[in-house]
Amino acid sequence: LEKIARVVVDLALDREFDYRVPEHLAAELRIGSQVLVPFGHSEARGYIVGFADRSTFEKLKDIKEPIGKKPLIEESVLGLARWMADYYMAPVERAVRTVLPGAVRRKGAAPKQRLSIMLTDRAGDAAVVDALRRRAPRQAAVLDYLKEHGPTPLQALLREAGTSAQTVRALQQHGLAVASAQSVARDPFAELHILPSERLPLMPQQAESLAIITRSVDTLQPPVVLLFGVTGSGKTEVYLQAIDHVRQRGRGAIVLVPEIALTPQTVDRFRSRFQEEIAVLHSELSDGERHDEWHRVHDGKARIVVGARSALFAPVRDLGLIVVDEEHEPTYKQDEAPRYNARDVAVMRGHREGCAVVLGTATPSLESYYNAHRGKYGLAVMPHRVDHRQMPAMRVVDMRQEAAREGKIHVLSADLRNAIEDRLQRAEQTILFLNRRGFATSMVCPKCGHVARCDQCSVAMTYHKKRHTLLCHICGHEQAVPAVCPNPECRDPAFRYAGIGTQRVEEVVAKVFPKARVVRMDSDTMTRKDSYRRVLGDFRTGKIDILLGTQMIAKGLDFPNVTLVGVIYADLSLHMPDFRAGERTFQLLTQVAGRAGRGDIVGEVIVQTYTPFHPAVQAARRLDYASFFDQEAEFRRELSYPPFFHLVCLTLRGVNEEKVKLTLDTLARELKPRLGQTVVVSDAAPAPIARVKGQYRYQLLLRAPNPRLITGPLRELLKEFKMPKDVGFAVDVDALSLL
Ligand code: ADP
Ligand code: ZN
Repeated sequence: LEKIARVVVDLALDREFDYRVPEHLAAELRIGSQVLVPFGHSEARGYIVGFADRSTFEKLKDIKEPIGKKPLIEESVLGLARWMADYYMAPVERAVRTVLPGAVRRKGAAPKQRLSIMLTDRAGDAAVVDALRRRAPRQAAVLDYLKEHGPTPLQALLREAGTSAQTVRALQQHGLAVASAQSVARDPFAELHILPSERLPLMPQQAESLAIITRSVDTLQPPVVLLFGVTGSGKTEVYLQAIDHVRQRGRGAIVLVPEIALTPQTVDRFRSRFQEEIAVLHSELSDGERHDEWHRVHDGKARIVVGARSALFAPVRDLGLIVVDEEHEPTYKQDEAPRYNARDVAVMRGHREGCAVVLGTATPSLESYYNAHRGKYGLAVMPHRVDHRQMPAMRVVDMRQEAAREGKIHVLSADLRNAIEDRLQRAEQTILFLNRRGFATSMVCPKCGHVARCDQCSVAMTYHKKRHTLLCHICGHEQAVPAVCPNPECRDPAFRYAGIGTQRVEEVVAKVFPKARVVRMDSDTMTRKDSYRRVLGDFRTGKIDILLGTQMIAKGLDFPNVTLVGVIYADLSLHMPDFRAGERTFQLLTQVAGRAGRGDIVGEVIVQTYTPFHPAVQAARRLDYASFFDQEAEFRRELSYPPFFHLVCLTLRGVNEEKVKLTLDTLARELKPRLGQTVVVSDAAPAPIARVKGQYRYQLLLRAPNPRLITGPLRELLKEFKMPKDVGFAVDVDALSLL
């Protein structure tokens, strides 16, 4: 009946093409089918995204043939991709590509095969093996491993037998081993032995939350639940039992966790409850592993998916529940087109597929809490830790007083030094946290902690080195760098940025505590795939006294012997040139504090700061989310920021600064008359990170009650607007980072 197919080709062309469906393929082709089509003078791969009776084009070509038997993309997921393309102003094929992992797309429906190394008959010859032992002991070791374990995939062999590809190759060259294809599902957890876990009897707060969630699963009343539970309140057990409920009804589930929280610990908890029903999708999988895991889901063998951001698009049929853990995490936002936020798209997928969505966190984003507050989402609250273990006591150390007393600035305050010393003596563990994501170009007075801020926008001003000025990147206001600290009580001439990094902290800690075993954990030291797992293992077994790190260690980790958490410099995140700086700081402090006192001993948290009375710091100290929200919401409402308004950030970049600026000015001028009254438009201004890889960046910030009030007119304008060839642009809808 349908004769025309709309096809998105796997090339960057941002449009759909019409093709005729040949009669003999009509029964086979469906929405989501991957097809080969004639394209220009050659051929292209594409996906059918829809059918039509007629086309506005004449002389259509025929679809050549389908690739694979079953459509790779579910119709529902494809619909979601198109919604994303529209909402986030991204090319359709980019959105389609986002919902289908590269590993799956490239291999199509190829049989699952991988090369395994196995021994030949010759390896059974004792004389040959004896000779090998003397001559090449390393090869012999591999041979022994293979004898014991049988055929082993190359990667696993390298890892498990601690050998090199060269050694394995030598073994093959001697005719002792061969590589051969084997069709087995690559299970990334094959070598782990996971004990099954039983459901725990729930605490009352967990039981109440579970009841709200299962009701949502069964009736979609409400369709989305915000699970607001303090760190250690037992959210994961609630997820597990909610999924159990979903499985008993024969339905599937997706659990999203931030990539950084995809620690073995988290995954193991899901594995041990649901065993083979779990598929895991995250960035550390090899292409082969990802391909296999994805197909286990596609074939309906695994009905529960745990993974990072893009796992949201897993082809789980008959979804009953989507869980977004740590919903406030900015890592749910993708920083290339489509710039989607997996949390928000999860809510949309749930809506489209009649499936409940749970957003879990100890520190709700303003957006989610606001939605719960006004009744759009349900709210389940878990204010206590499991077994009523006490929340850690948080102490704020005023580094200004510290500097005044000591006459100079130390990385570690006396309080923190003493506290660490105590832990070392009692053989308890310490986590030291430095948020390096802080923005290095804010101006901070080292004496009083004063930060240069924009009067109009209440964000930290950014120091622009080239022009030697301070700039507000929200409104574009520019001013000279003051010669002395602007704080009338201070007037210190040393007003400048005083930076510290994790490396420096490591040096200081090593010097102050020469006997302590200190390990630094940040993206510089954790370059190897397994080092994260190894360091955490060492920490757990007590081989490390002090773990020092960035964001990486702030979340999700659960170490009973950690009784002290020190935050070296809380102001770093406060001084980001971003209106969310307060929210981020509150979240970070609360999350970091959550690492302390997971065992039987009450934890202690020491926060060093130059701005001890900042509302975000104080609210975190008192563990008082509600008052933080009230205060923050008032400020956001006044300035028409999210969650009250949506924010769209338009960035232009190019090597010619004048041209970039001029183009953005022109674009802004032409856009403004097309926008409605409710849209707030800033002036074009250099981005806080004004130059990247030789390209100048300028931004335009737009705010509106509904993003379509911005993206609609913007899309229309961009159709006719002449963007110079050497100027690139990016649109970020619901932008989270304004750098
Ligand atoms: P959250 O995710 O809210 O930070 P977790 O789910 O990690 O909290 O729970 C903290 C600890 O409490 C975990 O070790 C977990 O196994 C344990 N736990 C959770 N629920 C219960 C329960 N009902 N009874 C006993 N222990 C529990
Ligand atoms: Zn400003």
